[in-house]
Amino acid sequence: MSDEQNSIADPRCPICEVRGMDKIVSRPSSETAKRGQPWFFVAQCADCGHIYGVFAKHTFGPPAGPQLVVKGRGN
Ligand SMILES: [Zn+2]
Repeated sequence: MSDEQNSIADPRCPICEVRGMDKIVSRPSSETAKRGQPWFFVAQCADCGHIYGVFAKHTFGPPAGPQLVVKGRGN
């Protein structure tokens, strides 16, 4: 493929100029919620480690701000 369009499907690392979605790795944050789900993901270059950004995990349902789930313990 010789598509030179700078599409979102073929990003390029500004540091090492490696291209391709497969060169971007995402890893969950080390901080996790009580259920073990990561709070956010870090997207970074697989080659040089350049961090593209941090994005929130996919959420389902209506958006909600940070919540402290405080349920009554021991009904
Ligand atoms: Zn890179």
